[in-house]
Amino acid sequence: MTAKSFHPPVRTLMGPGPSDVNPRVLAAMARPTIGHLDPVFVDMMDEMKGLLQYAFQTENQLTLPVSAPGSAGMEMCFVNLVEPGDTVVVCINGVFGGRMKENVERCGATAVVVEDEWGKPVDPGKLEEALKAHPEAGVVAFVHAETSTGACSDAKALTEIAHRHDCLVIVDSVTGLGGVELRVDDWGIDAIYSGSQKCLSCTPGLSPVSFSERAVARIKGRSHKVQSWFLDLNLVMGYWGSGTKRAYHHTAPINALYALHESLVILQEEGLENAWARHRAHHEALKAGLESMGLNLIVPRDSRLPQLNAVSVPAGVDEAAVRKALLDDYGLEIGAGLGPLAGKVWRIGLMGFGANRKNVLLCLGALENTLAGQGTDVRAGGAVAAAMAVYGA
Ligand SMILES: *Cc1c(COP(=O)(O)O)cnc(C)c1O
Repeated sequence: MTAKSFHPPVRTLMGPGPSDVNPRVLAAMARPTIGHLDPVFVDMMDEMKGLLQYAFQTENQLTLPVSAPGSAGMEMCFVNLVEPGDTVVVCINGVFGGRMKENVERCGATAVVVEDEWGKPVDPGKLEEALKAHPEAGVVAFVHAETSTGACSDAKALTEIAHRHDCLVIVDSVTGLGGVELRVDDWGIDAIYSGSQKCLSCTPGLSPVSFSERAVARIKGRSHKVQSWFLDLNLVMGYWGSGTKRAYHHTAPINALYALHESLVILQEEGLENAWARHRAHHEALKAGLESMGLNLIVPRDSRLPQLNAVSVPAGVDEAAVRKALLDDYGLEIGAGLGPLAGKVWRIGLMGFGANRKNVLLCLGALENTLAGQGTDVRAGGAVAAAMAVYGA
């Protein structure tokens, strides 16, 4: 067999990530590869750190993109901050909290689980109770923006409670960063990880992380070696740390970092607050269109992530057939439900570059037409107009 070049189709990505990538980001990726210790590249890394500090709203010196996807950022936080024998309180209200628990246990630590229903935010009262019952806990972990359900938890309140009980916090904001308010320093978050392919609209495969001074002190004072060589921050700091000689640790994914740099420049040009407001505005329009069809979001109003809309599948509808029709007929990808929500919801992403009028109107029109074609009793014909009314003239 003689293989030919691979040419993917052009899609509109409105699932839980990856999101539509800005063409500027793809163009940046095609620029010439240079050495990862080239002084020009090192200057770009320094600038990238500043751009990430802006995106996270932090002055943390230890702010960098891990050379691997969001899951590696997650793992970096746990393997560096958790030691064998520790107790970690893990809040679970969806898929990703469950993965945090798995990480804790693989570090040889004990996870105390605070559970909330899928679709609801983490309950601060329950966290407080768990911390009272477990004074031995040293870390609290929770997901800011739960992509499996579309629920946004109050990261500021949860962090404040954790600190009152002398715990550090590990926060998953893979889907939060760039899409909803996030203030690492003001809220006192100790360790946070994100991903390149959600609201930053970069290509997948990089995980921005940031660690407070308290977190760095905990890492430096560890009594066990970090079990992962690749993710050991004591070693990674030699490459990304400030004022270091930039010793070789691993070959940085040079072109992928050009892409992330460009996506962060785009975020800075727009302004963080403007990006948050844009996600909110397009969410309102999408919601109006969905509701005009008689479809409902599963997350209570006050806790909805604008960038991830979990919509109940109407009774009698074959949800997989709808997603297939959207992909085949419109080149439009939306996400399926996970875990207990499998078969029950669609997940419609409005992330980064993809949070725009064109995508909202395409999605509403395509969904309405597809559902009507399935013979369901959705109220067809008004979704685009309802969204347009939100946008105004
Ligand atoms: C996407 C996602 C991850 C994992 O990121 P990958 O890049 O897929 O490894 C982790 N947490 C949340 C909340 C996510 O949405």
